[in-house]
Amino acid sequence: MQIDGACHCGGITWTAVADPELVAVCFCTDCQTFGSSAFQYAARVTRESFSVTRGKLKSYVKTAESGNPREMSFCPDCATPIHGGNSDGTGLLSLRLGSCRQKAQLPPQFQIWCCSAADWVAVDSPIKLDKQGDLPVR
Ligand SMILES: [Zn+2]
Ligand SMILES: [Zn+2]
Repeated sequence: MQIDGACHCGGITWTAVADPELVAVCFCTDCQTFGSSAFQYAARVTRESFSVTRGKLKSYVKTAESGNPREMSFCPDCATPIHGGNSDGTGLLSLRLGSCRQKAQLPPQFQIWCCSAADWVAVDSPIKLDKQGDLPVR
């Protein structure tokens, strides 16, 4: 489905095509820190389907626990996280859905990296649990 969003200050707007089956909440420590929250809510989207329609993203590269360099992008003015992905430009983008207008139509289908979730976090939902690890690759 076609989705779109804007960062907190409105300086960045974006559009993408999301597969409602590839929406997850992630409890990995990188998502907790980068999102300054107990978990992150994101969709996997193709790079071709994503475009910035206003402004220019800033990004930096962080080496994940897996050893893979991950490029994290955000608004240069208000710092709203927009997406993460492989720094070599391959693979799907993990598009942060906090800034997405269609959140109501995109309930998460997976909970991932639950091994690093805080004990008090409980997402009360029938969505699938994955105790250790990432989304299944399709
Ligand atoms: Zn902004
Ligand atoms: Zn994560």
